[in-house]
Amino acid sequence: MAHDNAPQARRIGIVGGGPGGLTLARLLVAQGLAPIVLELDAGPEARPQGGSLDLHPESGLLALDRAGLRAGFEAIARHEDQEVRIYARTGELLFEDADAAAGDRPEVDRGELRGLLLASLPAGTVAWGQKVTRIEPLADCTMRVHVAAAAPRTFDVVVGADGTWSRVRPRLTTARPAYSGVTFVELEVADIDAAHPTLARLVGRGKLFAPGDRKAIIAQRNGHGTVRVYVAQHAPERWARELAGVPAANVKAQLLAALAGWAPALRGFIEHSGDHVRAQPLYALPVGLRWPHRRGITLLGDAAHAMSPFAGEGVNNAMADALALAAALAEPAWDAAVARYEAAMAVRIAPSAVASADGLAQAMSVDGAARMVELMRSHSPPHRELTSAR
Ligand SMILES: Cc1cc2nc3c(=O)[nH]c(=O)nc-3n(C[C@H](O)[C@H](O)[C@H](O)COP(=O)(O)OP(=O)(O)OC[C@H]3O[C@@H](n4cnc5c(N)ncnc54)[C@H](O)[C@@H]3O)c2cc1C
Repeated sequence: MAHDNAPQARRIGIVGGGPGGLTLARLLVAQGLAPIVLELDAGPEARPQGGSLDLHPESGLLALDRAGLRAGFEAIARHEDQEVRIYARTGELLFEDADAAAGDRPEVDRGELRGLLLASLPAGTVAWGQKVTRIEPLADCTMRVHVAAAAPRTFDVVVGADGTWSRVRPRLTTARPAYSGVTFVELEVADIDAAHPTLARLVGRGKLFAPGDRKAIIAQRNGHGTVRVYVAQHAPERWARELAGVPAANVKAQLLAALAGWAPALRGFIEHSGDHVRAQPLYALPVGLRWPHRRGITLLGDAAHAMSPFAGEGVNNAMADALALAAALAEPAWDAAVARYEAAMAVRIAPSAVASADGLAQAMSVDGAARMVELMRSHSPPHRELTSAR
């Protein structure tokens, strides 16, 4: 039986170097522990990290505070990009935040957040190019982690921080993510302020939602003048695979055909996007997922509670998990503390899992714009409602 060794001697393997896994690694290092992160990507620049995120005071920002990274975060945060606008498919502006720049949910580009976290870790903490294939429990309650094309490694505790399609989760539960029926096609408009001032005015300083007709255009300001655009629609699960390798111009033509009759201004986000096209079917684990606690293995972030992005809580949840789990793993009786972490996580996460499922259902309905305005009215304090088109 593995014994509760001193925290500094504890061998902790974190599978996955996303925002959740890296935040956990940083928080453990700050407490004098020496985790190893096994990350699938070949290196920090192996793939684009995706769009902008807003971090919340009670979760993502709190984790950065505790990790001693708040000053570094402020250097890359975009407080000025917190505006939210909702348009009808006709182009009519229905809702706009009153004073978004004063909000408490600053935006940050994912790649920059990852860079901040990576730079805070001692050299060698992240092992790149490690595709974890399975976890094997050993007789002494330690865990052997099998990695494709590399020798296995043994840890006292393995944390699955490897996202929706976790290779760690199957050791704890047979639950699998279910397809929501909605697929996002991600596009990018570069240099928006200089090259496309009309689109820049529409998106404002933050995010634009234009839902309707069981579809949606979502545009989100990223750093460096880029706007990331998601075109959402109900589609068969296989559609994303079918789009792989299709030239960008053909994908955009398909999207424009699906949005025939939508305001030309909104269609402009598709027409003026570049060659970046990425189809993302949205998946979710069952709301309130629990598993029987097992010594030496646990989960955080999307591996534990993947949900659609409609509540905007995914990264924040993952970082809040990291905060709670880092405290548990540093306790003398860490196994009991991890069991308490799992129980508390299920309770903490359930409301955002419910909200994200509800947000998707509302936004992707026939009258999505009106329903989203209602949701925003119920959630956000001061707002300004507009009735005339711009
Ligand atoms: C289109 C879209 C938009 C979103 N927008 C937002 C938003 O605005 N705000 C928000 O809070 N959330 C958003 N989310 C959700 C958010 O992206 C996730 O909740 C968040 O990234 C989860 O973090 P994580 O660290 O748990 O997992 P991930 O970010 O998925 O990271 C997992 C890591 O594990 C690695 N990995 C995977 N498999 C293996 C393996 N077998 N071996 C080793 N490593 C592996 C991956 O390479 C990756 O680095 C969005 C999601 C989508 C799909």
